[in-house]
Amino acid sequence: MENNISIEKSKTTKIQDVDFNNLSFGSVYTDHMLVCDYKNGAWETPKIIPYGNLSLDPASKIFHYGQSIFEGMKAYKDEAGKIFLFRPTDNHARLNKSAERLAMPSIPESHFMEGLETLLKLEKDWIPTTAGSSLYIRPFMFATGVGFHASPADAYKLIIACAPSGAYFSGKVKVLIEQTYSRAANGGVGYAKAGGNYAGQFYPTKLAAEKGYQQIIWTDDNTHEYIEEAGAMNVFVRINDTLMTAPTNDRILDGITRKSILKIAEDEGIQTEVRKIKVSELVDAANNGSLKEIFGAGTAAVISPLAGFGFDGKDYDLPELEAPFSARLKKRITDIQYNRAEDKFGWRHEVK
Ligand SMILES: *Cc1c(COP(=O)(O)O)cnc(C)c1O
Repeated sequence: MENNISIEKSKTTKIQDVDFNNLSFGSVYTDHMLVCDYKNGAWETPKIIPYGNLSLDPASKIFHYGQSIFEGMKAYKDEAGKIFLFRPTDNHARLNKSAERLAMPSIPESHFMEGLETLLKLEKDWIPTTAGSSLYIRPFMFATGVGFHASPADAYKLIIACAPSGAYFSGKVKVLIEQTYSRAANGGVGYAKAGGNYAGQFYPTKLAAEKGYQQIIWTDDNTHEYIEEAGAMNVFVRINDTLMTAPTNDRILDGITRKSILKIAEDEGIQTEVRKIKVSELVDAANNGSLKEIFGAGTAAVISPLAGFGFDGKDYDLPELEAPFSARLKKRITDIQYNRAEDKFGWRHEVK
């Protein structure tokens, strides 16, 4: 498949209605979207059409059995107007990993990358340039095949939609270390970006919000003794000068930000450890003053530092540091993403 993606241009544009200086996150969408259908055992040629509503049969299996997966990535514009993606083939590979777990078809890298790049070139004026902003890209795939029978669908749709987004800043958040609910279980789908994983988080997160916490730190489903993720982000902990994160497993999403932070930290000469982290270690470290930072890591917020955490009915504050690892690492990674620094790991992908 070489450049035979059809483009149906939108007759109107919404771009003049968008205040690029006051963008929220993921709530306005560009004029076009990429759509690719899977039918009769094969992917059709992707097409770009005006962004708009879908028409689906009520018996589509997405509505009944939740075959739905997604990715989250960003396009960045540098000062010269060049467009970059960050490790995009890793998103493609992870989409296929999620697809496999949900018994959905894999999508060829050429379909994904050519479709994405064609869409971005068409929507290039939508990529914001104000500090910290970017074009958030949401590729997602769901079952369009019909039937009330609980079995995988025979037809699917891949869509790539884009939303110009401002810097994702929620302020420092207070989190609750979860002792009852679980995000994911052994042998389950926690490592996949499956829509249902997030639906299952909303209720416990609402309960935590009622107690004054903005997010949850998920613990292992078996014992609730080890921390695993922070909301829909991977979680890092700094005790003294060592930066730690949990090893990925079938309950933890293999984040691209997480693995990039580990590489950059090593490059910065920061001592890193990838190992299971006990909640009791955090409590002890908070009590003896060696707990310096906890932060979430993911594409949307990049790095989101925490103000403190609650556990067993008690709150623990994190110190205000002069030069936290979180700020240093965030600068390094965003400088690479926005083409402001050397790309020594080969992570940037220019869209030309
Ligand atoms: C997407 C996601 C992450 C972060 O992954 P990135 O590739 O860094 O964006 C972490 N945890 C969960 C549960 C996620 O869905």
